[in-house]
Amino acid sequence: MKCENHPDKEGVAACVSCGKILCADCRLKLVGKNYCQECADDLVTLYSDKKEVASESKPIKAGYGKVKPQSSPAMDNSYEKARPVKKDSSNRFLLFCLIFLVVLFFIALGLYIIYLLYLAPFYGDLSNVINILLTDPQRIINFLIG
Ligand SMILES: [Zn+2]
Ligand SMILES: [Zn+2]
Repeated sequence: MKCENHPDKEGVAACVSCGKILCADCRLKLVGKNYCQECADDLVTLYSDKKEVASESKPIKAGYGKVKPQSSPAMDNSYEKARPVKKDSSNRFLLFCLIFLVVLFFIALGLYIIYLLYLAPFYGDLSNVINILLTDPQRIINFLIG
């Protein structure tokens, strides 16, 4: 079969969308499938709002200037803004976790220093103190206050 655009050339593929016979020059491969120029244009128009598929990820033959990402400026702006915001918030989350761990570490350190300074001389080793804390916390609180 001959290419529908070039009657002198042999067709090598058919457009998966409209079935048009295409020669090697007319065939456009998008995401592993063969398309004619018209159907490729339609696809790009459909998907350019969601993501920029065609021109960057799949090289289109030189000389076919028709396929360009036709993106609306409004969608582009929100897309460009969405990414830095997401990155920023994930950084903030990591920072929050780090601060939380540091604070937790200092609280534990503070409790341990309190134990060493006030409780260890009177109650002995840590397991004994924990035992008293679990069974009779009032006793230690009274001891620390008084
Ligand atoms: Zn087609
Ligand atoms: Zn052709």
